[in-house]
Amino acid sequence: MLYLTMEHSTRMFMENTLALEMRRLLESNAQPQGFLQFPSTSLGSSPTYWQACDSRGNVLGSTDNLRGHVLPLSDTGLRSVQEGQAVYEVTRVNNVPMLVYSHPVTMSGGTLGILQVARSIAEQEQAVQTLQTSLVFGGVFTLLIAVGGGWLIAGVSLRPIDQMTRTAHMIGIERNFSRRVQHNGPQDEVGRLATTFNSMLFALETAYQQVAQALQAQRSFIADASHELRTPLTTLRGNLALLQREPPISTEDRTAVLGDIVDENERMIRLVNDLMTLARADYAPKVELETISLPRLFADIERQAKSLNPTCTFSVRNIPDMQVIASRDLLKQVLLILLDNAFKFTPEQGCVELCAQQRGDQVFINVRDTGIGIAEATLPHIFQRFYRANQARSGSGYGLGLAIAKALIEKQRGQIHAESEPGQGSTFTIILPASVASIPVTHQLPDNAQPAKVYSYAQS
Ligand code: ADP
Repeated sequence: MLYLTMEHSTRMFMENTLALEMRRLLESNAQPQGFLQFPSTSLGSSPTYWQACDSRGNVLGSTDNLRGHVLPLSDTGLRSVQEGQAVYEVTRVNNVPMLVYSHPVTMSGGTLGILQVARSIAEQEQAVQTLQTSLVFGGVFTLLIAVGGGWLIAGVSLRPIDQMTRTAHMIGIERNFSRRVQHNGPQDEVGRLATTFNSMLFALETAYQQVAQALQAQRSFIADASHELRTPLTTLRGNLALLQREPPISTEDRTAVLGDIVDENERMIRLVNDLMTLARADYAPKVELETISLPRLFADIERQAKSLNPTCTFSVRNIPDMQVIASRDLLKQVLLILLDNAFKFTPEQGCVELCAQQRGDQVFINVRDTGIGIAEATLPHIFQRFYRANQARSGSGYGLGLAIAKALIEKQRGQIHAESEPGQGSTFTIILPASVASIPVTHQLPDNAQPAKVYSYAQS
């Protein structure tokens, strides 16, 4: 654009200059015969050349500075002038580039003549040529700098992305989510991408670890379950072999063996039932929750607990009509598991207590005993599947009771935890949401409000 504009404006300037010279001459020579008296001075510094021709282009006269050279006029130009049109032509005279302006005039005697004025455009051509060369070289040079600079800048700014790509690739190969992208630059788009990428890796690492742990837990669960099943099956196999023996065993031995078989069978049924309960708790999509009146549930449990043959004192604290959101059957099952354990681990002179209290929108149900307690080191493990802290006293238990209790309580959107002091006793606490009807008015606060006061109803 610069080149074209420059070339055009230079040309226009020259054409205007020549047109002005021509007009001046024409104005100063009112008499047609005076056209051959060319002006001695000209516009600008460069010399102006004049030439007069007849209508066929034959030269009639010219200025001395032409030194006998002729200002040419092309056939097309001649025809245009003959038709009365002035023309500009670029031509070469004595190897010098010239702009020639040919103008039709009426010569003395009324005949048509051609008056030509010309100037050298060598300087202008040279200037435009220099500009062209500068533009070409400058353009190529700038392009090279731009390509090189762009290459460098893109390389530097895309390096973290390249690093991320390589990290992602390595993670794919190694399955190592602990890798992180190193980015010390500013928190621009790339910086934010690196941060997001790292937090995604962290989330993946956590999820991967959880899946690995779950898989490990599943494996050990299957191993434990098979191990527990193998013992009664082996015993059964041995007992059946005894029954098949020839000669047959005595009637008393036979009765004892059959008794063993029934016991082992019952143990197996219990284990399979426990495993099924756990599996259901794990995979059942959701349980139906309802509003349960705790005093009524406690009365039921008090009756049923007698079938567990407690040797120690068992008491249920009378509580005001408290209502929880839970599944009646599941909550009952959990409380019976906790009471069964409490009776098992509490000596005859000890006591077991079932009570509840409401704090705000939560109900705390406690199963408290004054039994042998649980050692501090084992307390965190008692809710694990197949965990038995006290094998000798656990008797026929498989270490699944508390695991089932935990799974069932979590299904009801509650929590369970244990506190214990070895030799003093243990307290298992279940926390469940209270029914809205039983929440004191002061506690029915908006979701984002903090409860101001905690109410306790733990009175006998
Ligand atoms: P199990 O079905 O074999 O009784 P649980 O899961 O119910 O297994 O209990 C796991 C372990 O927790 C038991 O082996 C026992 O050592 C301990 N435990 C549970 N409840 C009590 C309790 N009330 N007092 C003392 N120890 C307890």
